[in-house]
Amino acid sequence: MRTLVVFLFFLICSEFYSQTTVDLDILIGKSQNNLVGDSIKLETSTHKAYKKMEAAAKRDGVFLKIVSAHRDYERQKLIWNKKYEKFTNEFSLEPKKAISEIIRFSTIPGTSRHHWGTDIDIIDANFPNEENVLVSEKFEKNGLFFKVKSWLDKNSEYFGFYLAYTNDKKRKGFEFEPWHYSYKPVSAKYYRALIKTDLKKIIKSLNINGSEYFDQSFIEAYIVENIMDINPDLK
Ligand SMILES: [Zn+2]
Repeated sequence: MRTLVVFLFFLICSEFYSQTTVDLDILIGKSQNNLVGDSIKLETSTHKAYKKMEAAAKRDGVFLKIVSAHRDYERQKLIWNKKYEKFTNEFSLEPKKAISEIIRFSTIPGTSRHHWGTDIDIIDANFPNEENVLVSEKFEKNGLFFKVKSWLDKNSEYFGFYLAYTNDKKRKGFEFEPWHYSYKPVSAKYYRALIKTDLKKIIKSLNINGSEYFDQSFIEAYIVENIMDINPDLK
């Protein structure tokens, strides 16, 4: 009897542990598990939910297309370094100014929600040759992706997908991204796990372009504004 009680106790504890913790390397994009897909990779449950949403949209004559899903640390580092080079060399911005320009839309590698495979950027599949698709105006009335956007506004949350960077004027951090949806049932768990880690130390130890300019106050503001000031429904 006693053995059984002890066994059940450990079973409950390990179940609780697995529900509340996520491997650090997965959170920061340095390792992956549960991903499906080839060029577009999604976390398993996110993939299932997305397929349901995609089919429902199709029945309504709306054709969804994911342009970006899981992105690993190295890929995000490449994006970051390229932008930093461009902003400091081509546009001659001071390093700190370049960094504040980059973080209007792009994350510091290791802190991207795209590392999780739960977050996706969605456009309309009817415009395969359109360039520069992730532009807010294209999702507004009279924009190319307005039809998709209106459908998502009405239906995405039913399938578990919530906007991460909303149009709330009081929200700080990343600008409004009408295309960026997050699968809440999994990403909320990842989010809670990420903010429990020593994010300051993680960001401080990064070796990327311009990281020598990440001082204490910058890092603190980045965590509070860019990582934590998201749609409250996703927390
Ligand atoms: Zn995105």
